Amino acid sequence: MRFETKAVHSGRQVDKTTGAVSTPIHLSTTFERAADGSYPNAFEYGREDNPNRRALEDCMTALENGHDCVTFGSGMAAIASVIEALPTDKPRRLIMPNDMYFGIRSLITETDIGSRFDIVVIDMTDLHAVEKAIKSAPTGLVWIETPSNPLLKVTDIEAITKMAQQAGAYTAVDNTWATPVLQRPLTHGADLSIHSITKYIGGHSDLMIGAVVARSGSPMLTNLRAWQHSKGAVPSPFDCWLALRGVQSLAPRMMTHCSNALAIAEFLNQHPNVEAVHYPGLPDHPGHHIATRQMSSFGGMLSFQVKGGEREAMAVAAKVRLFTRATSLGGTHSLIEHRSSVEGSKTMAPANLLRVSIGIENVDDLKEDLLQALE
Ligand SMILES: *Cc1c(COP(=O)(O)O)cnc(C)c1O
Repeated sequence: MRFETKAVHSGRQVDKTTGAVSTPIHLSTTFERAADGSYPNAFEYGREDNPNRRALEDCMTALENGHDCVTFGSGMAAIASVIEALPTDKPRRLIMPNDMYFGIRSLITETDIGSRFDIVVIDMTDLHAVEKAIKSAPTGLVWIETPSNPLLKVTDIEAITKMAQQAGAYTAVDNTWATPVLQRPLTHGADLSIHSITKYIGGHSDLMIGAVVARSGSPMLTNLRAWQHSKGAVPSPFDCWLALRGVQSLAPRMMTHCSNALAIAEFLNQHPNVEAVHYPGLPDHPGHHIATRQMSSFGGMLSFQVKGGEREAMAVAAKVRLFTRATSLGGTHSLIEHRSSVEGSKTMAPANLLRVSIGIENVDDLKEDLLQALE
């Protein structure tokens, strides 16, 4: 099946007992054993597995061309599990990008992960820097986020995966911003593709789930499944059901997000009050060529810097009418946020930077809103 068909059909079937076309939500936490003690339907207890979770994991596996998927109660639960599930025979050294989802930086600085792992932060778009970091000491895991948050840096997945493999390190790609519609890291050799399903896959800002899709069976995957079962940070059946409902329209939604975002990026690029636009779809973006090669389109996220400083950027965010001032991304509605004041004192985001999640509204309405806000 092709991608759009898999998004609609994978993990889904007509309910055998009722004929229901929409998958029922299974809230039951426990499942009956047969007289001989077996589990005839393969389900036993809600933390271990659940029909809605299984359906979502099967669908994610199909969409990423993976081997298996393990879901968690949020993107961060998935990310923390990946780091902690690094097999004990691997070095406790992680290489991570300097432009990266802020929650991961908080995970490192505010929990014991930072002291239990040696974390090397580098510019992942600089292949020489990556090579140097990989060769300078034994490494367990190389972390890629592309396009990255909030500067939309683009990293060459295939080149870095090759280097990591030669050094015996796992490669994990946070694929949240691209989604499997635009980019499939496992087909470029990465070991793990990670998603905050909370964002585009759910697609309507009404659920929280994280997912890790693995390219093959590996000790990492075995550990992740054990972490899910025993540490228990599992998503609810209802959230899994919502995600499986949302994913059906992922492909057409992404096409609209992408075409709207490109039009907005071009518009902002021409505006006299805009200092810089960060969007990989613009031909002068430093990652444009790599993005053209490894993505099928450039995504719905962009950031831009307003001429002036924090005050001028905040003034633009204050004036929008259609965009909502809120964090997060990937919903049908457009969001705008002043990143550095959201991130606080540890921020690396420029003070005049606004990050926008472009929704699937009519693009002329979005343009008009930004035009009046930038005046
Ligand atoms: C939102 C996000 C996360 C974290 O996901 P949650 O579901 O909020 O825990 C991780 N990575 C990226 C790129 C994100 O945008």
